[in-house]
Amino acid sequence: MKIKEINNAEGPTPKLDKFWGKVKVVEDAKSCWEWQGSRDKDGYGRIGVSRKDFKKTFKAHRLSWELQNGPIPPENCICHRCDNPPCVRPDHLELGTVYDNNHDKEKKNRQVRGEKNGMKKLTEREINEIRRVYDHGKLNQTELAEIFGVSQSAISKIIRMQRWTHVGEFADMFGKKKEKGIE
Ligand SMILES: [Zn+2]
Repeated sequence: MKIKEINNAEGPTPKLDKFWGKVKVVEDAKSCWEWQGSRDKDGYGRIGVSRKDFKKTFKAHRLSWELQNGPIPPENCICHRCDNPPCVRPDHLELGTVYDNNHDKEKKNRQVRGEKNGMKKLTEREINEIRRVYDHGKLNQTELAEIFGVSQSAISKIIRMQRWTHVGEFADMFGKKKEKGIE
């Protein structure tokens, strides 16, 4: 891949060799080129430029896109096709809108929450069933988890909450589940 000279409207940019010196370039058709310098809290590479009257920190992936394509239009952002924030490989980056980016993030967060939650598939009836079966001592938590397709910790929670009804934790959670229509 040809790496073009810098052409940036925002002002002085880091020297090209300084920039590419911090990138782990992998010579194949699809590997990510990860930023080896410092990263921000979201994992994006950062590179600072400090001149006499000018100080600025660039996001490495944005700068990489600009090296190839010129300045990023103000209404756009740069998205990773590879979903890997430290990656600066030009053909893994594309111009997107802020909406795309937020929408994408939201979708991913929702998936993570769903997996962590572990109760998404259970109905009230199933929860009662779990408690009943467990109380009769016929199945242990691991077996119940397998049958109902949830994590063992979710089963444990259901059972524990039965014993701590005075806390009202379960009622709360159920209320929230209903509100959001998750079942
Ligand atoms: Zn990548």
